[in-house]
Amino acid sequence: MNSELILVVPSSYSKKPSKNLNAINSFYFLLFLLYLIFIFLSQFSSEVVGMNIEALADKIIKAFPDLELNRNEILQKLKLLVYEFRVPEDEAVRTIKAWIAREHGKIKPEAPLVKIGELSEEYAWVTIEAKVVKVWNPNNESIAQAGLIGDETGIIKFVTWAKAEKPLVEEGKCYRFENVVVHRWKDQFQINVTRTSEIVEIDKDIQVKENTIKIVAVLTKILSNSGLIKRCPKCRRAIRDLCPVHGKVQGIDDLRLKVVFDDGRNTYDAILNEDAIKSLTGIDLQKAVEIAKEQLDRNAVLRLLRERVLCKYYEVEGVKVGRFVLVKSIRGC
Ligand SMILES: [Zn+2]
Repeated sequence: MNSELILVVPSSYSKKPSKNLNAINSFYFLLFLLYLIFIFLSQFSSEVVGMNIEALADKIIKAFPDLELNRNEILQKLKLLVYEFRVPEDEAVRTIKAWIAREHGKIKPEAPLVKIGELSEEYAWVTIEAKVVKVWNPNNESIAQAGLIGDETGIIKFVTWAKAEKPLVEEGKCYRFENVVVHRWKDQFQINVTRTSEIVEIDKDIQVKENTIKIVAVLTKILSNSGLIKRCPKCRRAIRDLCPVHGKVQGIDDLRLKVVFDDGRNTYDAILNEDAIKSLTGIDLQKAVEIAKEQLDRNAVLRLLRERVLCKYYEVEGVKVGRFVLVKSIRGC
């Protein structure tokens, strides 16, 4: 009995249970392995996501070089959006950028008083005191006014956005352009007047440093919106029937040519006003209106002007601003 017991008991306990034990052990071992793999993967993936979050935070901070942002705050917001709310990364970045813009739009950016010749940094906020050299009539309704301003160090283009709702400036007057943004366009700096900007007329006479040039060049092109044009009587925009700002208006006639000169080395964009056109062709505004009436065609004026000026050599003297030349005098060669 004993021996049998001894034989039976161990055999029943040592064989079957040992198999079970092995199975249990392997099961737990497998579970453990899976657990390890899980831990490893989750560690790894959270590290990858974590790295992404860091990179995204850097990307956001980089987008606002002129702001001192709290990196931890951005990280927290990113984690909340990406981990908790499962917002796609792109959308999270957009959301946070919009939030930063909103937050900081209220605070006036620091805009030091600088000279035009000192501008070197795109997207910088600056304040400039300058004289309005030239005002253009914008052909885009999102722009309220555009033109050139200058100080002792140079001349720069300015654009006032319609949305900014700022006062319009006049040629020859001096203004303080506060909190304007520096932009680079076609290798040239320009300043943009936005909603946070201010334009204040100042009682100063600023001497403008003019980069005058004298070229002998061929008039190679006449651009569209040239010839006998109509302007809005209120804002002087060149219009067809409607002014984008003032609606239906009785347009007033004007004569102008938007042209391109080529001196063999560079091309220059220029606008010839009525005086310049008259001196070159003998046609003034009154004559142009007569021609249009006689021929029942306003385009007849442009055709005639084209014949008279295109492909001819001119001596042009003016102020060079980027690829644009502000014509001061022009005569045929
Ligand atoms: Zn208008």
